[in-house]
Amino acid sequence: VTAPARFSGPVTGVVEATPSGDYLQQLFAAGVLIPLGVDGLYARSGGFEAVVDALDRLITRIGRPAWVGADGRSEPEPEVMRLPPAMSRSIFERTGYMSAFPQLAGTVHCFCGDERAHRELLELLESKSDWAAGQTTSELVLIPAACYPIYPIMAERGTLPPGGRVVDIGATCFRHEPSREPTRMQMFRMREYVRMGEVAEVDAFRAGWLERGRSMVTSLRLPFVVEAASDPFFGRTGRLMAAGQIEQALKLELQIPVNSSDAPTACLSFNYHQDKFGATWGLRTSNGAVAHTCCVGFGMERLTLALFRHHGFDTATWPAGVRDILWPEQASP
Ligand code: AMP
Ligand code: ZN
Repeated sequence: VTAPARFSGPVTGVVEATPSGDYLQQLFAAGVLIPLGVDGLYARSGGFEAVVDALDRLITRIGRPAWVGADGRSEPEPEVMRLPPAMSRSIFERTGYMSAFPQLAGTVHCFCGDERAHRELLELLESKSDWAAGQTTSELVLIPAACYPIYPIMAERGTLPPGGRVVDIGATCFRHEPSREPTRMQMFRMREYVRMGEVAEVDAFRAGWLERGRSMVTSLRLPFVVEAASDPFFGRTGRLMAAGQIEQALKLELQIPVNSSDAPTACLSFNYHQDKFGATWGLRTSNGAVAHTCCVGFGMERLTLALFRHHGFDTATWPAGVRDILWPEQASP
């Protein structure tokens, strides 16, 4: 199955010039982000979180009520799930993440030794040696993308109902990609809507969310482009996989200039997994076919950083239209 032709090329929006300079330093100076001693790991101010919360509610409003697609079919009501930041290691292993993205994964290791092993551990710490080598692999792995734990949950329930399913999920995700770009964090929050069903259902869902994503970002008065993109697959085989992904337009990104206007930042992703997760987890449609899946992912910190970048650090001075979208309860009638 290849992606429909309308996804095969970039869809261009307006990209205005963005102020340059070290955005991370500006965020620290304004107290919006607070350094925690590691690149890509920050505490967030109340002002930052107020925007994250508003975006979270906006994404919920846009996803409801269930909508009717261009083909007249109505989408299933989203089922809400919020996940802890970790997932089962054995489920993680089955996703194939370590083949595709070993460089990004974060596994949880723990001390499981006796008192003697503890004394050795303290000696290693004292002498500033590698104390972590004695840690034992736990049954937990940090979630790399919010939708990974969802597929086995749905497969466990049996065949999909007619019309398939939509899941509204949120999780704190981890990716080991330390960076001085404030938009590239090691721990960040992702909202996702995941669609599971027939090819046509998944296809209509992605097209519908592409439209909704564009109008959401337009209403927030942010410039953007939509581009076919690829995931950062590891190694030489990975480069081939990335090329195939772009060629088939399996991943589209809505990118907003945040750090620079030359390299806009992916803030929303529209991923078509074909039958990859359906086949891995034995998820079937009511017709008995292997289910196809897609997801739309929202980077909460990235969207927030984009808003601060384009409208300033003081939300009170943001354009009234933008404030009304984010805080409709405060909008003047
Ligand atoms: P992806 O699974 O890579 O498509 O990621 C989904 C969304 O999460 C992206 O569109 C970004 O908005 C966000 N995201 C991905 N990586 C990071 C990161 N390192 N820091 C912050 N947000 C990220
Ligand atoms: Zn996903």
